[in-house]
Amino acid sequence: MKKLMEEFKAFALKGNVMDMAVGVIIGAAFGNIITAFTENIINPLIGCIGNPEVTGFVIPLIKGQELNLGALLTAVINFLIMACAIFMMVKAVNKITSIGKKEEVVEETEKECPYCLSKIPIKAVRCPHCTSELK
Ligand SMILES: [Zn+2]
Repeated sequence: MKKLMEEFKAFALKGNVMDMAVGVIIGAAFGNIITAFTENIINPLIGCIGNPEVTGFVIPLIKGQELNLGALLTAVINFLIMACAIFMMVKAVNKITSIGKKEEVVEETEKECPYCLSKIPIKAVRCPHCTSELK
């Protein structure tokens, strides 16, 4: 039982799980913003173009049941906007992280030998190409 608790602790404190929890919470909050955006900005705009109201687009059936196509359409629009926004965010983050990696590799691990101009490790005291001693 003690081992099980330790395993659970290790699992719960892993970076991935914490990242995922943060992602889920931010995702939920972000979803609310997108919903408000569609309901208050997108739907009125669509209403201006032609359809009276996206949320009011309901087809009545027998026995008081109805098909709420407006709600479905709103959910689809929400999903498309959210997918688009998340895609842009992931793209931006990938670009930023790749820039950081490139700079690190070029600047921190290599230098140029002053005698033969070869790329050599920054800590080298003797050039592996021309065997010159370096300061
Ligand atoms: Zn050299």
